Order: sequence, then structure tokens, then C-alpha cells
Amino acid sequence: MKSDGARGSPVRRDLKCKLKKENETYSTGTIWDLEELGRLRGALLQWYDAEARQLPWRQRNGRPDPYQVYVSEVMLQQTRVSTVMVYFSRWMERFPTLRALAAATEEEVLQQWAGLGYYRRARMLLAGAQWLVAHHGGELPSSMEELKRVPGIGVYTAGAIASIAFGKRVPCPGLDRLNVWKGAGKRYLEMLATELVDPERPGDWNQAVFDLGSSVCTPQLTQGACEACPLREFCKVAHLPIEAIQRVPYSVTEVGEGAPRMQRHMPRARVRRELVHAFVLVANDSNSNEGKQGDPLYFVRRRASDGLLGGLWEVPNIVVNHSIDEERMHAEPLGQVARTPSMHRQYPANGVVTASERLAEALADLVLPPWAIVSITQSPQMVRHLFTHIRQDILVFRVQIAISNVLSDHTGTSRWVSATTLRDVGLSTQMRKVLRAAGVPLSRKRFAGTDPKD
Ligand code: SF4
Repeated sequence: MKSDGARGSPVRRDLKCKLKKENETYSTGTIWDLEELGRLRGALLQWYDAEARQLPWRQRNGRPDPYQVYVSEVMLQQTRVSTVMVYFSRWMERFPTLRALAAATEEEVLQQWAGLGYYRRARMLLAGAQWLVAHHGGELPSSMEELKRVPGIGVYTAGAIASIAFGKRVPCPGLDRLNVWKGAGKRYLEMLATELVDPERPGDWNQAVFDLGSSVCTPQLTQGACEACPLREFCKVAHLPIEAIQRVPYSVTEVGEGAPRMQRHMPRARVRRELVHAFVLVANDSNSNEGKQGDPLYFVRRRASDGLLGGLWEVPNIVVNHSIDEERMHAEPLGQVARTPSMHRQYPANGVVTASERLAEALADLVLPPWAIVSITQSPQMVRHLFTHIRQDILVFRVQIAISNVLSDHTGTSRWVSATTLRDVGLSTQMRKVLRAAGVPLSRKRFAGTDPKD
């Protein structure tokens, strides 16, 4: 347990005074005094010494590599640790140093990131590495101020790098992930965050907070978690009913007869539904250099760099309906809704749009002569994919093409590839589902043991 060696310093006296002021409005009990805060810190670090997860970017003896901390912190934003572990190891094989990353193309970076989701993170990581090579000798700086100047590094990532990789006594925002401070105001938490960081082990302290918040004091706090918590002795809310502690919102509601009861209330994000047609173009060329002779080739094109899934590869597809009418979806067969003409093209007067017309629309500037289409078969399986605010229902068509060279744009943004190459190009999880629905042999997960999301 750490001793409170700095007690009595001006900073400490100042804090003590502020804590007393906060005490007047704090609702869940008496505030901790400095001696108690010291013991709390010791208890959490002791727990961390025994329970810390062994993660590839953590080094228990010696200081972690700043570049590895940087990459892991960016990957961990909105992604589970178990998924990040697999991607992190492969990333380090491909881009072992910051300079190696800075020398990569956006396509190579996205290819390595494919399946991890939230692709802007990958592009910002590349931009950050290139900026550091251009302006900082290819090294990560150690101070918060300098770190925050790097494109894509915000206050959280800067705090993590400074404390974990450089031993700076700075907090990572996110102390409020632990219920032990529940009820404390924002200002109080900010003071506490800085005060609590262990002067000798700042990185360990920040990682201990992260670990406890993701394994014991989770937002969905389970029954019995408090019994196993190293902070139970200090926690002002551990004695409350579990519904009151869980960080998912709850409200008091009249339920049936008797006294009002607390009910958990999960806010629902508004999700828009889209209907999409996707076309998996297949050719069996004997003259291509791709794959073995006679192997099927698949047509893919690269999305523009900006926007959702920017820079990733996809099969031609088009959003047929941007906001599906739920009632109509239930009342009419899906095919009928799918044939509704879109605004972008003139269709026959009878209003029926054929799959080949949709394909022409999806190909945009590329022209596929009708004679080259051998067959169009709709997959019996409709693909569903959920982005953060959009749910896509995707009708998948497998289109057999007579010969691949009838379709090429010579700009490098589209190409014919074999199934083997497809496994390595940057494909989103959504596109992997589409290709599998069309019978292309791709595994569900890019890397074994991952649960990718995008
Ligand atoms: S005692 Fe329970 S509520 Fe308090 S910090 Fe620990 S796990 Fe969270």
C-alpha cells in the first residue's frame, strides 16, 4: 500500500479545502479524506498487481513501447479487448514501428484494419504517424500538450500515452466509469482524477481503473460483483440496490398494483432502415493472372476515401430505398417494395424495375453491355447489417459475366480478384456477408477469435 508522502504540500492542502466545499452538496455520503484516498489507491493497485490482464501491449517490467500504447489505445476505442488483441498482434507484424506505419498507403492500412470497424480510426492513425515523422522525428512526444497536437490524438489517448508509456502523472478521463464515485459532480471528479494518479505508477493506476471498470464495476454491474471489488470498503453506493447502481438509465414507474418500482429504461437510438441491392459479378476467365486458371473472379471497387467505410472495397450496390416504410414492409412482399423505382433514373412506364437495370444504376459510370450478362440469380438469403444508426436489408444478386475484360475502368479503383485475393483486400463485415450470401467462399470472421463490428 502506498504511503501518502505528499500530504501537507500546498497542493494537498488546497485539495482538502476544495473537498470540504464539495462535501456540502455531495449526496451519497461523507467525502473521502486524504488518508482514505491514499488507502483506496493502494487497494486498487494491489488488486491490479494480482489481477491485471496480460495484454500484448502491456509490459509489467520495464516501460511499454509508446507506439504500441498509441495503437492499442486507438483500437480500444469502441472495440472489445478480446477483439483488439488479435488485430493488434497482426498489426504489429505488418507495421512494427511508427515509421513503418507512416510509409504505408491508406489502402494497406485499411486492409489491415478491415473488420475492426469505425474505419476513421485507421485513417487518423496513419495521419498521426505521418505527422509525427514529418514534425517530430518519427517519435511520440511525452507531454500532454505535444501529444494533443498530433492529428487524431485527443485528451484520453494523450493521457494514456503520457502516463503508460512515459510515466507522466496525468489522469486518463474516464474515472467516472467506476461507481465508487457515483453522485460526485464533474468538477469534483476532475480534481479527484488528478489527485488519485499514483506518482510512482501513473500508467498502472490508469490501467487499473480501466480494468476494474471493464471486469468488475461494469455499466451492467452484476449481482455479487461488489463482493469481489477491491474498492468495496470505500464505495458509498455498494449498499444500495443493484438497480440504483447500474449505470444504464432507470426510472421510477408504476408497475401493476402496489408500490412504485424502479425499472431499467434503455434509451433507443433511432435506426433508419434501408433497402439495398448488391451485385456480385462473377467471371471465369482463363486468361487472367488472378488465381488458378478457370477459378471464378469477382468484381470489386474501392469506395471514395471520405464517408462511411471510405477506402474499403465493395461489390457494386445501390440503396434502393433510404427509409423503408415499416408497415409496407410487413404488408407487401419484399420483392414488390424492391421494385419501386428510385429517383435517379428513368424507368419503364409500368414502374417495374428489373435487376439488370438496378445493376446498371449500381455500376454508375461503368458500362456493362447486355450481351455480357449470362445470368442474374437472386440469393435466397437476404443479408441484414446494422451500422450505428442504419439497418440495411440487402438483396444479393449473383451475376455471371461472359468475360471479365468487358468491365474495367483502368483507374485502379476497381478490379477483378480471385477468392484468395478477396480474403486479403480491405472488406467491411457487411461486404463479407454479401459475398458469402452469393456463394463466395469467405469465412464469417476475418481472424479467428474475433467478433468484428462495423
Ligand atoms: S463496490 Fe460495487 S459499485 Fe462500488 S466500485 Fe466496487 S463494484 Fe462498483
